[in-house]
Amino acid sequence: MEFSQKINDIATRAEQALEPLFRRIDEISFYNTNKIMDAFREHRVAATNFDTTSGYGYDDRGRDVLDAIWADVMGAEAAFVRHNIVNGTQALTIGLFGLLRPNDLMCSIAGKPYDTLEEVIGIAGEAGNGSLADFGVRYEQIDLTDDGGFDFDKIGTVLRRELEGGRPVKVIFIQRSKGYLNRKTLSVAEIGEAVRFVKGISPETYVVVDNCYGEFTEKDEPTAVGADMIIGSLIKNPGGGMAETGGYIAGTARAVELASYRLTSVGCGLEVGATIGQTKNMYKGLFYAPHTTAQALKTAHLAAYVFEELGYEVEPRWNVERSDIIQSVITRKPELLCAFCQGIQKGSPVDSFVTPMPWAMPGYTNEVIMAAGTFVQGASIELSADGPMREPYTAFFQGGLTYESGKIGIMSAAEAMLQAAEK
Ligand SMILES: *Cc1c(COP(=O)(O)O)cnc(C)c1O
Repeated sequence: MEFSQKINDIATRAEQALEPLFRRIDEISFYNTNKIMDAFREHRVAATNFDTTSGYGYDDRGRDVLDAIWADVMGAEAAFVRHNIVNGTQALTIGLFGLLRPNDLMCSIAGKPYDTLEEVIGIAGEAGNGSLADFGVRYEQIDLTDDGGFDFDKIGTVLRRELEGGRPVKVIFIQRSKGYLNRKTLSVAEIGEAVRFVKGISPETYVVVDNCYGEFTEKDEPTAVGADMIIGSLIKNPGGGMAETGGYIAGTARAVELASYRLTSVGCGLEVGATIGQTKNMYKGLFYAPHTTAQALKTAHLAAYVFEELGYEVEPRWNVERSDIIQSVITRKPELLCAFCQGIQKGSPVDSFVTPMPWAMPGYTNEVIMAAGTFVQGASIELSADGPMREPYTAFFQGGLTYESGKIGIMSAAEAMLQAAEK
């Protein structure tokens, strides 16, 4: 692919300006890689760990050792990671149904949770499908304050009110990443502060974190600062671009045990589950994850710089340190949003010849345009973009398996937008 002088020059300036930020990202990647390799050494990972099992999957040593490694790396007491968790939503469903019982209260303290959780909680969709609400689980939500922090006054009020009612809040829920919302992503330090606040008032309350898109962007995960449970998807950061599918849950021994009874069945827990040849991909994925996440972070910083210089509003700005891999570019015009996604698609390793178009999608009120030229279907640790066709025509994107290919994707998108703007 050939790039214009203008785009080449911006990319050169971007990389000069980003050097100190890239150094910091490399340092985090080194730290997390070192932590992962220590865990591999400690647990004596050997080639036999990649052996496959079928049927019940009893005594699958590779699976059990990976669970133990995952717990260590996440700074948790226990964890499970499974290829047969189909996505992040299912992992979150397993965790929530594992902890919540009839009449319990789940309180989300970072505002509205991810779209796909609305039907799981029962604040959207039809009654009777088996949502948490159908089982009598109550739900409340506290929005972040105007400056993007936790609203501790309101959180304290709810915690004390339920304690006085003799039934402590069962789950305080925090979504770390802004996802596709217009809010700040929460840092691990901020989440740690919230955990201390919650436990200070209501020590029995479980703090559960939707960790999607956040893994390995910082040195610690929320479990290392006291969260009872973190949950994520393997086709995002912690699968390192190597896992074919899957999800994980890490946390305190009891919280993970309860979730394990939802993963399989009460009684069976983590004793069963054949790995049918997927174990090696998951080990390899964890091994790669800090590096791959670093590649995605660098790609996001580069894009922020390039599109800012081209005159677009971006979030976060190019020089802001990140706690997730999502970048947005506000294009303001439908044709520019389309050009952005088409440019990303053209700069992808798979399906580069396809032209994405806006389309009506189930569950979405506006048409959506999506670009994903990925090896693993829908993997968002790979360079991918999408945007709803409505004001202000914001392109959300994330990923980049390698910085080099991510850079090519971003330059391709920038080139496509320059051409569209000239028309
Ligand atoms: C991706 C994501 C999820 C889960 O989505 P799936 O598509 O089901 O994997 C949940 N929460 C956040 C913040 C996410 O980014």
